[in-house]
Amino acid sequence: MMEKSSIDIFDENYKLITQNIARAAEKSGRKYKDITLLAATKTVDIEVINHAINSGIQFVGENRVQEFLAKYKDFLPVNKHFIGHLQTNKVKDIIDKVSLIHSVDSYRLAEEISKQAKKIGIIIDILLEINIGQESSKSGFYYDEALTAVEKIACLGGVRIKGLMAIPPICENSEQNRHYFAKMKKLFIDIGNKKIDNSSMEILSMGMSDDYAVAIEEGATMVRLGTALFGRRNYNV
Ligand SMILES: *Cc1c(COP(=O)(O)O)cnc(C)c1O
Repeated sequence: MMEKSSIDIFDENYKLITQNIARAAEKSGRKYKDITLLAATKTVDIEVINHAINSGIQFVGENRVQEFLAKYKDFLPVNKHFIGHLQTNKVKDIIDKVSLIHSVDSYRLAEEISKQAKKIGIIIDILLEINIGQESSKSGFYYDEALTAVEKIACLGGVRIKGLMAIPPICENSEQNRHYFAKMKKLFIDIGNKKIDNSSMEILSMGMSDDYAVAIEEGATMVRLGTALFGRRNYNV
């Protein structure tokens, strides 16, 4: 039997996902167009990424600096986001190449982004990553630190805070994480209500392949999907 091509896998998945997103958006009183679908493209070949862009994907996210730098020049026109843990010494390599950094997980990293942005005379959009499950294995700000972090980082200059990002604990059933997504939404609203200069709560980036529907139902404005779009990753190629 012929194996399905990566292109066919994407086409099938994409159709299904747009339907699922539309349904979840409706459940939260919104529309498909209110949700941004970001394709998480780690390990995905450039041909497949460009096919996805041609098919309508407008946002791609890479989570490794080295892989991003090796690939980004070959992308068709698209919004490029950085979504993975970012080491401070790598900030300067990507800062002029991405339009949003989702994963600002420490004050030290924010300071470095601010410094590098000022150096080249830009203001870069960022999200603060919240460690919503309070997991010691994960980086990010704790729920209770988030407001103070937004206030401090918004003052740095060179950065504009556009919202929050979270990766809840790995779980077997997406329903188990519903309360984390709801907590994120509350935090997002609360911080937005403070009307802090240089920050606006517009983007709530949460939900991955296994739990994006629940995340959207609870208020995500952006979901980051890899496996659900492209199939299982092969790290060996
Ligand atoms: C890989 C990745 C995703 C997508 O993960 P899937 O489970 O494959 O959908 C989302 N966010 C980040 C930060 C990632 O690194």
